[in-house]
Order: sequence, then structure tokens, then C-alpha cells
Amino acid sequence: MIALRSTPAGHVAIVHHDPEQAEGLARILRTAGHRVTLVTPGRRVVQGILDCSPDLLIGSTAIADPTLETVVRSVRQALGQDPPVVVLYQTDLKDAPADTDEILREPVEPLELELRVDRLLRSQAERRVRERKLQELLGLYKMSWAFSLAGGTDALYGYLARQCAELLKAERCVVFLFDPDRRQMVAQAPGYGFTPEQLARARYSVDGEARSRWNFRKNGPLVSNKAKADTRVLTDLVEDMGVSSLMAAPMTRGPQVQGLLMVADRATRAPFSDEDLNLLLALAGQVTIAVENLRLHTEIKRANALLQEYDRLKSEFVGIVAHDFRRPLMAIRGFCELVLEEEDLALETRQEFMRTVISETDHLALLANDTLLITNIETGQFSFNWAEVDLGPFILEAVPLGLSDHSVLMDIPPGFPKILADPERLRQVFINLMSNAVKYSPAGGSITVRCRTHGTEHVVIEVVDHGLGIPADQIDKLFRKFQRVRTEEHMRISGTGLGLYICRLIVEGHGGHIWVESESGRGSTFGFVLPMDAGAAQQARHKDAKEAEAGPRPHGAG
Ligand code: ADP
Repeated sequence: MIALRSTPAGHVAIVHHDPEQAEGLARILRTAGHRVTLVTPGRRVVQGILDCSPDLLIGSTAIADPTLETVVRSVRQALGQDPPVVVLYQTDLKDAPADTDEILREPVEPLELELRVDRLLRSQAERRVRERKLQELLGLYKMSWAFSLAGGTDALYGYLARQCAELLKAERCVVFLFDPDRRQMVAQAPGYGFTPEQLARARYSVDGEARSRWNFRKNGPLVSNKAKADTRVLTDLVEDMGVSSLMAAPMTRGPQVQGLLMVADRATRAPFSDEDLNLLLALAGQVTIAVENLRLHTEIKRANALLQEYDRLKSEFVGIVAHDFRRPLMAIRGFCELVLEEEDLALETRQEFMRTVISETDHLALLANDTLLITNIETGQFSFNWAEVDLGPFILEAVPLGLSDHSVLMDIPPGFPKILADPERLRQVFINLMSNAVKYSPAGGSITVRCRTHGTEHVVIEVVDHGLGIPADQIDKLFRKFQRVRTEEHMRISGTGLGLYICRLIVEGHGGHIWVESESGRGSTFGFVLPMDAGAAQQARHKDAKEAEAGPRPHGAG
């Protein structure tokens, strides 16, 4: 009899003392579409059942050595709760054997057998789906905590890849992340199932060939069960990674693709299904969260380290400022006292003392101004006053000459352009760089101010000296607040470590960039580039910042 069934056919093992009756039961079940294995009772019965790994076991209570009860217990122990068991009995049964799901009296009514087997297989299939869902949920839950579970940033990508591969029963998995600077999708090591060499090579440009392949942003995830012959994927990449089937899902933040989660090669060789794809999409969401958590964690750690460093520098700064304020204050007080108390002082001496008082007061005002300016720029309470600046004459006028015995050479090409800038702030940059060039060249020497245009939209200005220079390991930090070169010679010269930081804030406020090239003991070149139209440059910066906020727009296939 063929019954209408909604459950998929299952694999049924039958253990019966009577081979003829066993064959009769098998016939009924085979006709109903099931696969049947007859297992002979006796010493090897348990192994026989385990070998065929059935979805359902039918056993007769009449088998002995071992009894059905022993067989069922051993099978349950070996396999957990799978498979369900139907017990057949021929005489009155006082106690149902333990661990049975259905009991049928022999001779069995074919329809009855069929219905019971169907019901058991259906509920078993439902249980398996529930279990799988539970596993998936557990996996997803673990994934969202991946960052803390992985035990460190280095292991994170390996952990994510292994979890995803296991959940999808795949042999390989890797996370690709978008590198906005190179505009490349880059595989993150460690992955799962790939060699370190394969992963080091696994990257592709989103603007190259990938554009003509699969667009993850527009088309969403990709399933390719024959990857090597698939025109939607990058064949070279797939060949090099040794992948034959794959699923890749975009990791998105808003409309932007930040990376890809790729699993490849099923352990079972079965193709990836729609159900697998749904799970992959959910996993890609969790992996995105885990990667974002890692990014935030790294940022917080970095910010924390920076704050600690600022704290240290601030304490040091307070010491320096206190010292820097005290020295001129003591001088002012001393000279004033002398002028007040020494009645016999010559007029000339008196005037010289008063000039010193004025110059020390100016120095104090400058120090106070610098500190205030930094606070204002940093807290956003400052705006530039843009005006057209004719750079040639401006530099000649802004560079303080006669500061010292150093010879100053001005190298300004004729017709040096006019630019849009804040003249007062720009003057401050020249003054800071020039006074540093003088200050840190105690043995004298020449100082050159070198100007040139760069393309049609930028000017480059350099201040070159032949003084103390800067040790290579201290160059990186110089444009940060409070940073001073820590050598005996530098520390002998008074300073606050604010001048270069102010230069950087001003130059960057103009949409430019400042740098230094230096060799210890031989001198330094401080240079900066400015856009000719700082207003337009500022607008462009805002646009870039907005685009960076919106994230990348990659195309391509893995
Ligand atoms: P300050 O001179 O007040 O200390 P700056 O921010 O202007 O602060 O400079 C930071 C540090 O960079 C200085 O302390 C000095 O050690 C180094 N420096 C700046 N300019 C030069 C230069 N032209 N040559 C050598 N070292 C320099």
C-alpha cells in the first residue's frame, strides 16, 4: 500500500528473530518508500545497527543474547537519543521495554506500521531541524562574543572562520576586509583550512577585473557550487585558494560593503543549499559585529594609551610652563627692583633694563597666546580669517630677519602665486619655523627659505638649517603637543614643545601638510605644502570626510 506522505523517506533498520517476518516488514516499508536494512540478531547486532546508522530502529522482543532491551540501551548510549525505536511483540507484554517510542503487536497491520513509522520519522526530522536551529543560534550567540572568546585580536579571524566553517559543515572559511586606502578586499589571517601563504596572497582590487564579475553590493550573497568554472567569480583567486565550491556573503554597514565572509568546500561534497545561505547571511551579520567590536576595542585601547601619554605630557608641560613663566617673571622683577632702588643708574643702563623687561613681557604674552590658541583650535572655538595673500612679498616680510647672526637666504621664484590663507596664522608658522631654525643651530650657519609651486594647485615652502638636527627615532612625534627632542643639547635650549604643534594645526587648518627631514648633527628641513585655495581645499576635505563616513563602494567577487 502506498500512503500519501509528507515526511521524507527514512532509513529503517529491522532486527527480528524470524528472517521471514523481517522480510515481510521490510517489504511494507520499502513499498512505502523507505530504505530498509535487515540486521541479524546475535553478538554483532549492536555493531550492525551502528554501521548502517538508521533513522529508525524496529526490533522484536523475541530476540535474545543480547535481548532487545540491551540492544536498544547500547545503541542509545552510542548515538544519544537518535534513532527512535519501534518494538514489536508477539505475546502479552507486561512491561514495555525501556527507551521505546512505539509498541506494536505482531502480526503487524501494514497501514498501522506505516503510519507509526511516518509519525516517528516526521517528529525526528522536526527534532533534528530544532537541534540544528539551536546549534545555529548557539553559534551565532558565540560569534557575537567572538572577540572575547577568541582570546585576543590575533586569533579573532581564525576563531570566526572556524566557527562559521563548522556551522556550515565547510572545510574552509575566511573573512575578507575592505582596505579603503588600496581599494582592495584583503583576506584576514588566520582563516580556517587555508595555508598562511594562500591567505597572504588572497586579495583583489575592487576596481579591477572584479568590476565585471559579481557585485556584492548590488547582488548580495553569491553561491557557486562549481567555482572553478564560474564566470561570476575571480578564477585566478579561486584557483590559488584551491577552492571548488563556495558561498560568499557581504558584510555590510548601512549600504556599504565592508568585507566578505566566504566559506568553501563542503566536507560532505553536497552543494550549498538555500538553508545554508540563510545561515551564512546571519553569520555574516554576526561577523560584522565581531569585527566592529574589535575595531572599537582597538580604538579605545589606543585612545586610552594616548590619554595616558597626554596626561604624562600635561604634567610635564605644567612643569615647563611654570619654569618658563617663572624665569622671565624673575627677570622682570629683578630689573624693576634695580631701576627702582638704584638711584645712581645711568640713563642708558636704565633704558636697557626696561627694554629687557618689555622683551620678557612679550615672551610671556607669546607663551600665553600659544597656550590659548591651542586650546581654542582644539575645542573648535577658532576660525580662520581667509584673505588673499601675495606669497612672495608676504614671506619676505613675515620671515623675521636679523634675529641672530645666522645668514638667511630667501629662495623665492619670481611670480610666486597669490593664495587664499589666514595671513596672521601663516605668519605665525614662518616665525615658529624660523625661530626654531635659529634656536636649534647654536653654532650659527646659514638658513634657507625655499619656495616652489607643486602642480597648479599647491605651493611648497621649506626652511632649511644646518644646526643640531633631530635623531631619527624622535622625528615621528615632533608635531604632537608638548614634544621636545630629548637630547642633552636640545634640552639645554628653552622651549615648550608647542611651536611645531601649532604649525601643524595651522597648516592642516589650511588643508595642507607639514613634515620634517633631518639628520642628527647635520641640520633639518621643515617643509609644508599649502593648497592655493584653502577655502576649496577645506570643502574638499569635508567631502572626503563625508565619503569616508559613508564607507567604501566595492565591487567584485571572491
Ligand atoms: P620648542 O622649540 O618650544 O621646544 P617646538 O614645537 O617648536 O617647541 O619644537 C619641538 C622640538 O623640536 C624642539 O624642542 C626641538 O627639540 C625640535 N626642533 C624644532 N625645530 C628644530 C630644528 N630646526 N632643528 C632641530 N630641532 C628642532
